[in-house]
Amino acid sequence: MVIIMLGAPGTGKGTVSAILKEKLEIAHVSSGDIFRKYSSEDSELGREINSYLQQGKLVPDELTIKMIKERLNEKDVEKGVILDGFPRTEAQAVALDKMLSETGKKVDLVVDLDSPKQEILDRIVTRRICQDCKAVYNTKLNKPKVEGICDKCGGKLYQRDDDTIEKVETRIEVYKKETKPLEEYYNKKGNLFEIEVTEKTGTMAKEAAEKVISKINSEL
Ligand code: AMP
Repeated sequence: MVIIMLGAPGTGKGTVSAILKEKLEIAHVSSGDIFRKYSSEDSELGREINSYLQQGKLVPDELTIKMIKERLNEKDVEKGVILDGFPRTEAQAVALDKMLSETGKKVDLVVDLDSPKQEILDRIVTRRICQDCKAVYNTKLNKPKVEGICDKCGGKLYQRDDDTIEKVETRIEVYKKETKPLEEYYNKKGNLFEIEVTEKTGTMAKEAAEKVISKINSEL
């Protein structure tokens, strides 16, 4: 099974993906995590990737597609995968369709998360990530038991460099321009599943993941 997580930064793609990974027992591939790992390396490639991340801009398609292709060839992905943050452009979506068709696979479901902008901004500036297992916390909505420490693995929590108001504004604009058109791309294929993640209706990551599971159980 191949599931894509679409949605602007801060809508909960990573958190919903982590829940789905446990429930469905399939791999979770986050393009952002892959790029953050590279960007921390002291190499030409690491520095190039880091410059895009620091500006809140997209890494060029060719490089992104190459890296995801390599990751999708790994063994743990055979049973299924949740793609969190990829594709983000139409060129990436087309490349993904091609990659999957080469192994007789296809995109089964595209989960499209949306949230009110103010909630996105609040969530982003209070987001904290475990430096070891990448678990996502929030200093208001989802606090760890011990401040600054991951409940799951004891790793140290940190704030992403690009989780600032200024950079999030850029990332949202990039999302609208480059990635939002993918809603239409997948809607035409008939596998787009939209969920509003908002405190207003109490539909947060856990509830969104439950909706995805019911959708899979009833239709796939
Ligand atoms: P994320 O963790 O998904 O918010 O991604 C963090 C950053 O990684 C983005 O702001 C981009 O700079 C880069 N990135 C992640 N996924 C992609 C992608 N599919 N295409 C291009 N750049 C990406």
